[in-house]
Amino acid sequence: MKNEQLKNRDLKVLWHPCTQMKDHEVLPLTPIKKAYGVYLEDFEGNKYIDAVSSWWVNLFGHTNQYINDKIKEQLNTLEHVILAGFTHEQVVKLSERLIKLSPKRLEKCFYADNGSSAVEVALKMSYHANLNDGKNKPLFVSLTNSYHGETIGALSVGDVELYKDTYRPLLIQSVQTPVPQDMSIEAAQIAAKKFEELCKQRADEISAIILEPLIQGAGYMHMYHPEFLVLVRSICDRYDIHLIADEVMVGFGRTGEMFGCDVAGISPDFMVLSKGLTGGYLPLSVVLTSDEIYMKFYCDYNEYKAFLHSHSYTGNALACAAANATLDIFENDNIIEKNRLLVQQMAQRLQEFEPLENVASIRQTGMVCAIELKGYTPQERIGLKVYEYGLKNGVLLRPLGHVVYFMPPYILNEQECDKMFDVAYEAIQRL
Ligand code: PMP
Repeated sequence: MKNEQLKNRDLKVLWHPCTQMKDHEVLPLTPIKKAYGVYLEDFEGNKYIDAVSSWWVNLFGHTNQYINDKIKEQLNTLEHVILAGFTHEQVVKLSERLIKLSPKRLEKCFYADNGSSAVEVALKMSYHANLNDGKNKPLFVSLTNSYHGETIGALSVGDVELYKDTYRPLLIQSVQTPVPQDMSIEAAQIAAKKFEELCKQRADEISAIILEPLIQGAGYMHMYHPEFLVLVRSICDRYDIHLIADEVMVGFGRTGEMFGCDVAGISPDFMVLSKGLTGGYLPLSVVLTSDEIYMKFYCDYNEYKAFLHSHSYTGNALACAAANATLDIFENDNIIEKNRLLVQQMAQRLQEFEPLENVASIRQTGMVCAIELKGYTPQERIGLKVYEYGLKNGVLLRPLGHVVYFMPPYILNEQECDKMFDVAYEAIQRL
C-alpha cells in the first residue's frame, strides 16, 4: 500500500535522472523504505542486493554503523562552514590522508561536491595553469567512448553519444583519441601511438588529456591494459601536456588497487575523486594536484593569477567526516587485501557466462565485472529486461545497454555474491 502511495506521489512531483519518464507508465518505480549492508528494502519487505552500489558510490554497505556514528558525531559539532577564509579539522585531516594515499607528486587538494564539477575544476586548472605560464592552450583531449559527467564542460570531454549528441552546439573544444580496443598490451600500444600522432600535430594547443584509468564506466564498462597509462604518461611528459586521471568511478579500490593509477604505477598531474570518497553517503569530490601546478597560481593578488572557482558546499564537514570514516575502514580492515578474495570469486563465477550463446564477451578489472551480450537491437531494450528480472528476483542490476555488469559494495559475502551471479545468469538465459 505504502509502495503504491509513494509511487503515485512521486510521479506527480519528481523528474528522475537518466530516465524517460514515460517509461514509468508501465515500469513501476521502486520505493525504498530502508537499506542496510548490501540490501535495499521496499515498503512490502522485498529485499534487493545493490549490485551497482547505488550508482557506483557505496563501498561498505548502506547505513554502515561505523560511518553512521562518525557522521552523527560530526553533526553535533560542526555541520558546515564556508571554506574560503575558514577551515576545519575534518577537511584538513582528509586532505592529509588523501595526499598520503595517492600517487606521488599530488600535494594539494581542491574540493567540489560532485564528479562533474571536479572534472570541470581540473579542466579549468589545467587551462589556467598554462595561461599563467603565458601559454594559451584551449584544447582538451579525451578518449573515444569516455564519460566524465554531464555538466557542459564535463560533457564536452565525454564521448558517449547518448548523452552528448543533443548538446553538441553548446560544448567546449575537445578532440578524441582512440581508446585501446581491448585489454591486450598490443591494443594499448596502438592507441598510444595514435595519441602521440595527435600530439605531434597539435601539442601547442592541448592543455590536457583526461581519461578514466583502466575502466570506462558509463562507456559500457570498456576496459584496457595499464600499459596504456604508462605510455600516455610518457607522451604527456614529452609534449608538455597535463594528464588528468578521472578516478571518480575507479578510485577507492574498484580496480583492485586503491587507485587505477596505482595499477600502472603512474602519477597524473590532476586526479579527480568522488563517488566512493564518502563511502556512498554524501556528495563530495576533490581534485588533487602537484605543488608545481599550485605554485603557478601563487602570487600577489594584483597579478590576478588566483583560481577563483568556488562551490557553496566546498569541503562540507559532514561529507569530510564520512570520507574520513571511509578511509578508517580501508585502513583498519585492510580492505584492498581482503577484496582479493571477492575478486577471485567473481572471476570464477564470471567464467560461467562465456559459453552462453548470447554472450559476446566477459571482462573484469578488479572489483568490476562485465558481460557483453550480442544479437539484439537497441530497440529490444534487453538491459531493461535484465533489470526487471533482477528486481523480481531480489537483485538490483542496471545494465548499460547490452552490457550487464556488477560493481557491488565490498562487504558482499559469498552467498550474496552467488545470488547476484545466479540471478544475472538466469536473466541472460531467459532473454
Ligand atoms: N567521471 C566518471 C568517470 C564518472 O563515472 C562519473 C559519474 N558516473 C562522473 C565523472 C560524474 O560524476 P557525478 O555524477 O557525480 O557528476
